[in-house]
Amino acid sequence: MKCSDCTNPAVTYKRYEGRALCDEHFIQTFEARVKKTIREERLIEPGDRVCVALSGGKDSSVALTILHNVLKDWRDTELFALLIDEGIEGYRNESLEIAEKLCSSLGVTLHIARFKETVHKTMDEIMEEKKFPCTYCGVFRRDLLNSKSRELGATKLATGHNMDDELQSAFMNYFRLDMNKASRLGAIAQKNELFVQRIKPLRYLPEHDVGLYAVLKGLDVHETECPYANNSLRFHVRDFLNKMEEKYPGIKFSAMHAYDSLLGMLRSSVVKEINRCECGEATAGTKCRKCELLATLKT
Ligand code: SF4
Repeated sequence: MKCSDCTNPAVTYKRYEGRALCDEHFIQTFEARVKKTIREERLIEPGDRVCVALSGGKDSSVALTILHNVLKDWRDTELFALLIDEGIEGYRNESLEIAEKLCSSLGVTLHIARFKETVHKTMDEIMEEKKFPCTYCGVFRRDLLNSKSRELGATKLATGHNMDDELQSAFMNYFRLDMNKASRLGAIAQKNELFVQRIKPLRYLPEHDVGLYAVLKGLDVHETECPYANNSLRFHVRDFLNKMEEKYPGIKFSAMHAYDSLLGMLRSSVVKEINRCECGEATAGTKCRKCELLATLKT
């Protein structure tokens, strides 16, 4: 099959658009979409110190690589990376090496924060006492990303969330009836003094495209899935959405559009009273989720 924009062989065919692209046109289209998101949604402003939440996987590696390219011409911004080591034997060590190599090739400083030093347990230890480790991991990682990036002076926290991740989160919040969390999705989080503002430059790109971009750019990425992943709700939601897309091409895009058209309404109708937990972090009640979960672990 030939590229729809030139005579070169195509590397991908977008079923929902009926369009084939060669490597060069795919890369151009991909990068243009990321730049459009950064520009139109004002993800980054002059003076920003951008911290990329890096895992060594394809999404965050692509986010870091593109932000590095975009920001190298901006004189008054700074870019660095932060990796959270949850303490998962045989999984995180390998991705840490890959993340270190990528940062050193780009000349970006990499900071590391570990569960063991902050919540005093590794995920492997938590798994020994809890059936659903992802609940703990997700909350502890979010908390640590926020507190550590704030300590490092970040004004923006960029994550590698792609369109599939965002859609899975939307469905998970819906299944859990968590409208508060659902109202926080989007390419840029609303400002709040207790949170480093989160940005998602890859939010409008499907997971498949992010993977292809990583391959075409020759990025060395960590592909092993976490050994605890199939215990998570996200794993099953992802599977369900992929099956739907297979049967009805383009349904993920329309589901995202539908969600985005509700987002403004959700944001204005959800009452978000933010208090400070005794640990200093944000909470909608009196105790934050991290402190609630820590209280359920054996000492
Ligand atoms: Fe953590 Fe679960 Fe993700 Fe593994 S799959 S890294 S345990 S959230």
